[in-house]
Amino acid sequence: MTRPDLHTHTAASDGMLPPMALVNAAADAGVTVLAITDHDTLDGVDSLRGQSTPIPVLTGVELSLRDMHSLHLLGYGRTEAVELRAKLHDLAEKRKTRAAQMADRLTALGMPIDLPSLLRETSGTVGRPHIARAMVRAGYVESVGEAFDRWLGEDKPAYVAGERLSMAEALPLLRRNGFVPVLAHPALLNKDEQTLLTLLSAWQKQGLMGVEVYHPSRKGQGYAALDAATRRRGLLVTGGSDFHGEGDAHGRLGCTADDWPRREEDVRTLMDAMDSLSR
Ligand code: AMP
Ligand code: FE
Ligand code: FE
Ligand code: ZN
Repeated sequence: MTRPDLHTHTAASDGMLPPMALVNAAADAGVTVLAITDHDTLDGVDSLRGQSTPIPVLTGVELSLRDMHSLHLLGYGRTEAVELRAKLHDLAEKRKTRAAQMADRLTALGMPIDLPSLLRETSGTVGRPHIARAMVRAGYVESVGEAFDRWLGEDKPAYVAGERLSMAEALPLLRRNGFVPVLAHPALLNKDEQTLLTLLSAWQKQGLMGVEVYHPSRKGQGYAALDAATRRRGLLVTGGSDFHGEGDAHGRLGCTADDWPRREEDVRTLMDAMDSLSR
């Protein structure tokens, strides 16, 4: 049976592994089809072009949106996506400005970090995890988790939101560029079921095509109700681990596959949707 993992990060954003190392680790973990979905960049998955990989790799991206906390949109596509790439480049540049603003906050809080060297060591889009790791190295906190809990979380003193698209901008951007938009980790929105379903209907009218039902954040609540509600609306069901690296707080490679009964047909439906948007 297929073991898909449709949500992973490489060192091109805030993951730990370079792209090919990630693909090999996924294959070793029994994953049979992988999507790379770095934050605001296609550079990681692009670097695999023309190389042979042990398992098929789908091109994806994860956009952070400004409408609400933890609202992230995944996009999957097989097009050149010229306009999307230009927008991602712009967002990646703005992430540098935001990292500088967060570094300024940390300096004011008595915790200076060496941002230029951090940016040199970061191979792709810079994010809070890079800053958190620098804080651990400097001895300001014991762990990345503590850095987020005390300083970098969304309501904490060193947090800067940065430039983000809205859902109303991101959905047509992805669709115009042949990318299938899928709501990432809906459980992290912290909405009750009825509110979530109302949001899904509104976003579907704006172009949303799927929901990442099988994400580790949903496991405690159970998947069945959201799976059924998603299908009932004619939205695609997807799943992935959100793997960032061994030993961090996100999922392990392939960890949601076993809980996802119709994964085989769902992956085929997603790939069909990618094909049909690319025509
Ligand atoms: P950013 O895109 O720069 O706002 O950073 C968001 C990323 O930080 C997420 O994709 C996660 O990888 C990571 N993250 C968010 N919250 C936490 C947390 N509490 N502990 C560890 N990593 C986190
Ligand atoms: Fe991340
Ligand atoms: Fe996310
Ligand atoms: Zn992610």
